[in-house]
Amino acid sequence: MILDEVTMPEYERGVRESSTVIIPFGSLEEHGAHLPLCTDTLQVVEVCRRAAARTGAHLAPAIPYGVCRSTRNHPGTVGISTATLRALTIDLVRDFHRQGMRSFVLISGHAGKTHVLTLVDAGEQLLDELPDIRVSVISEYNEIQEAGKALVEAEDDSHAGEIETSRVMFLRPELVKGTSPAEWPSYPEARLVRDKRRHWQGGVWGDPAKASPDKGRQLTEIAVGRVIELIRELEDYRETPACGERP
Ligand SMILES: [Zn+2]
Repeated sequence: MILDEVTMPEYERGVRESSTVIIPFGSLEEHGAHLPLCTDTLQVVEVCRRAAARTGAHLAPAIPYGVCRSTRNHPGTVGISTATLRALTIDLVRDFHRQGMRSFVLISGHAGKTHVLTLVDAGEQLLDELPDIRVSVISEYNEIQEAGKALVEAEDDSHAGEIETSRVMFLRPELVKGTSPAEWPSYPEARLVRDKRRHWQGGVWGDPAKASPDKGRQLTEIAVGRVIELIRELEDYRETPACGERP
């Protein structure tokens, strides 16, 4: 089910057929001079839509804001705090649980480390709180970086580079406005920086010139395949009894 499109009786029937819900997390974040601010959201929603259709899991509406640190001074990036993301995730899982869902797939299209770790932190608290749930936290971008290695030519391609440009060219070509210069930012090893844009002028990490719609199609399918595997692993998993309990 696409959860925001079904009726009350359809929800009631659907949750009896599957109690797995996928919640996509995106961002409103700069992606260079050529990709839209919604890049992470549109990528993750498409992957989740395809994975839901092929697994029977339900698709929740996407959260279009995330925790963005390194790009927060670039024009257009509007984010939320870790406290807000954590509280929002916990509220949503609790309420979907109250409405019958038991397996939760939290998928992020935004690969920010702090953002993804906040989802993990929320998931850990929920495991303690709700004994009958299972939770997966997936950064679909990290999955692509690993599984899509053979397709990607640029070294260390991360943000608005070859991978993301290819994916938006495939999904929404009308939103790609030309290209941006290749760029690899450099930050101090340990020191946190206030003037973040000084270290990352153009907001690109990788080489958009190596992008193509066909790579975008293949990378999207790779992400869908990995997400389907991870959903099946979650649904098949049977927990061993906690410490101190008898098996
Ligand atoms: Zn992105």
